[in-house]
Amino acid sequence: MVEANKGLRLYNTLTRTKEDFAPINPANVRMYVCGPTVYDFAHIGNARPVIVFDVLFRLLRHLYGDEHVTYVRNITDVDDKINARAARDFPDLPLNEAIRKVTEATNTQFQADVKALGCLDPSFQPRATEHIDGMKAMIERLVDLDVAYVAEGHVLFSPKRMNARVKSPRYGALAKRSLDEMLAGARVDVASYKEDEMDFVLWKPSKEGEPGWPSPAGIDGLGRPGWHIECSAMSMAKLLEPFGGGLKCDDPQKNVFDIHGGGIDLVFPHHENEIAQSCCAFGTERMANIWMHNGFLQVEGRKMSKSEGNFVTINELLNTETFGGRKWPGEVLRLAMLMTHYREPIDFSVRKLAEAESLLAKWRRKAAGTTPGAVDGTFLSALGDDLDMAEYLRLMNSGDLQPSTLLAAASLIGLDLSELETDVDVAGFVARRLALIAEKNWAEADRIRDELLAQGIQLKDGKDPATGERVTTWEVMR
Ligand code: AMP
Ligand code: ZN
Repeated sequence: MVEANKGLRLYNTLTRTKEDFAPINPANVRMYVCGPTVYDFAHIGNARPVIVFDVLFRLLRHLYGDEHVTYVRNITDVDDKINARAARDFPDLPLNEAIRKVTEATNTQFQADVKALGCLDPSFQPRATEHIDGMKAMIERLVDLDVAYVAEGHVLFSPKRMNARVKSPRYGALAKRSLDEMLAGARVDVASYKEDEMDFVLWKPSKEGEPGWPSPAGIDGLGRPGWHIECSAMSMAKLLEPFGGGLKCDDPQKNVFDIHGGGIDLVFPHHENEIAQSCCAFGTERMANIWMHNGFLQVEGRKMSKSEGNFVTINELLNTETFGGRKWPGEVLRLAMLMTHYREPIDFSVRKLAEAESLLAKWRRKAAGTTPGAVDGTFLSALGDDLDMAEYLRLMNSGDLQPSTLLAAASLIGLDLSELETDVDVAGFVARRLALIAEKNWAEADRIRDELLAQGIQLKDGKDPATGERVTTWEVMR
């Protein structure tokens, strides 16, 4: 049987090593993952942390019991990008009403997208606007502790003051950079009211018509929180009660949770700043014990992002023929994402999706008509080794695996093999035909094409725009 730590090892960005995972309280394993800013459709890069941490959530539930894991993924619904989008899309509405429209619609779309990708609902999805009081309480505490200060209607956190007043943690410990190095790398705006360029905003004043709440720390007028304090306050609200107690807690060590996750781009400054705020406010040396970060999803070696203009949304992939000339089922997108280790970059291509589709088709044929068995220990060891999906998929592919074991292994990572669709069968033939073409066995490849055509399915050969490799898509003829 598994030991107290259940054999789980996770790579910790804090220590840059794989560590044995031992929860602070096995009756309530606690994980926080930074969620979306809801102003626009999520792209498939945004889906990566959602899928990766969904797999970890499922594994933790399997190991500790469904009732003993709390997973929080927040919704950032106050942000300048949201304000800008609301003003652009609804110029005739009062800004606050326009913002509500944008955040409601975007959040509804996001929930539908990630459900289609096979992700479970997290235990809690707090919205920033519901936790303003917690943010203000933390901000007051940070000002009292003299690591934050008020200037021209803003409250600013000072990393220099933190490092002068607090022995551990040091600001910069997660990013592993000195203050000088961080300053060189950060896009900090040099505002007149800042004591130091590194200082970051906890609270800022709102103009007339902008969303705003009565300000903390003796500031007159309405204001709104900075991005980093949102996650400190929401993790406090959902993960430190009733086990810790947030600001009311008399035992600082209770104000630590187990796992904090997000994309690698969040290490600095977002997570560094979350740690600074939470550790100073609670007097702890850590905010979370393990920090996990997924690598980027890339297109032709560049991060997929809105600013690069090289993105495709989850919704487009699922519901339109934008990518590779066809729609892609959610399970195919999910498996394609999981075929690469979560810390490695993924190159997103039609070829990768086609490969995932043919694997799924193969497994579905094998598992047809069976019911899931127990999850085999070898699968748990693979997943428990910092989510080693290469080994996990190798095990799923082994020829002598029982169909019932295959079904159980698929379901542990959130893949449903139970439906058998036309697409899925066709994908199997397409993969076989591509293999024949690679072997230059044209006669057999053509025979498969003609046989499918006789059944009303037309294959179309094309090229992956990213890699130039052959890809085959198909259409059901009417
Ligand atoms: P954003 O909306 O940019 O704040 O991103 C939301 C989440 O998606 C964060 O955890 C990001 O780190 C993550 N993310 C954004 N772009 C990518 C990408 N291309 N690949 C992987 N993760 C990403
Ligand atoms: Zn965050």
